[in-house]
Amino acid sequence: MCAIPPVGLEYAEFHDLPKELMQCGTPYSEIVKRFTLSENPLLRPEVLAEWLERRTQARQLGGSIDHIVKFGNGMVIKVSDRRMPDGSYVGLRVDVTELTHARKIAEASNKAKTDFMNVLSHELRTPMTVIMGVAGLTKNARVLSSSKILLSAIESGDRSEDEITSLLDDMFAQHSDLMSKMIKSGDHIMELINGMLDFAKIESGSILINPTICDIKDIMDPVEQLLSTLAQEKGLIFEVQQVSGTVWADRVRIRQILFNLVGNAIKFTESGSVRITVRIDADTVVFEVNDEGSGIPEAELESIFDPFYQVDSSATRHVGGTGMGLAISHNFAELNLGELTVTSTLGEGSCFTLTLPSTDASKV
Ligand code: ADP
Repeated sequence: MCAIPPVGLEYAEFHDLPKELMQCGTPYSEIVKRFTLSENPLLRPEVLAEWLERRTQARQLGGSIDHIVKFGNGMVIKVSDRRMPDGSYVGLRVDVTELTHARKIAEASNKAKTDFMNVLSHELRTPMTVIMGVAGLTKNARVLSSSKILLSAIESGDRSEDEITSLLDDMFAQHSDLMSKMIKSGDHIMELINGMLDFAKIESGSILINPTICDIKDIMDPVEQLLSTLAQEKGLIFEVQQVSGTVWADRVRIRQILFNLVGNAIKFTESGSVRITVRIDADTVVFEVNDEGSGIPEAELESIFDPFYQVDSSATRHVGGTGMGLAISHNFAELNLGELTVTSTLGEGSCFTLTLPSTDASKV
């Protein structure tokens, strides 16, 4: 029996095989079998047999083998075997774990960006369609229903001055209504663009957060005023419970987070309530946004903070959005020395918790 060549010992060590296996005379199929079983102990015998057959045939036919082997511990090895003119074999095993991992991340990020472009185009097109439609209508103001009624009343010459004034008011009201729709759509586009700009700033690390000691009420009031109307329009119960006190926060950015959280709570709740509570807990201020909406699957609870991630549920598809809000909010919370977390039960509702320092954290 010949001595085991050093490369054989290394091979045995690398694959955690007994070194005697590498002695001259061990059939190639035996080595492959032991190695395959050590990596996949539960492999069914027929699958193993077929795999061995393919490996040995490939070796006998052309002598060249190129494939990727994934190990149970996550390691990925590129296997290349070549037959030399004298009948011997040269085999290369290249560790491509990091490369494979980096490629997967790059592919996932590329896919997320492509998905985002699709979602964003859709989100931009909807308000743009409204703007173009309204602009088209008002461009031909004479054909608006209120204008036609007014014109025919003037032409008939038998209407009183008061009647004409009232019809004129109706025409102004219709114009104003159309313009409101246009402004609402314009605001929505502006929001999307601002979100993209914030996101770009976060990615480049150039976002500025300026926390100061702020009154909790001062942060919460605009959120309550604006969003309670939205919740009521949807027929939801909207409740706010807050303590008086101060929080160490960038007023504008933290309000932005709360607008995002409460806006989502309203967006994803069809009936029931949206409740916001603010309490002081030791040296933190805790903002909790509870809803009785669609909830989020447990497996996706972490991913929703990833940029552009949206739960692929009918609820999300129905209400739209871009998947930027929570990623931005999560970043702002951390930059403000706080944290943003979530708990949720599918079909029952979600609770987003924003925790911020109650005192001047720069002095702590
Ligand atoms: P957007 O709402 O624009 O899609 P967000 O980043 O704010 O983006 O949210 C990401 C995703 O997280 C949403 O698309 C939705 O699937 C899920 N989500 C966020 N908040 C809630 C909530 N309160 N209830 C259910 N799902 C939510």
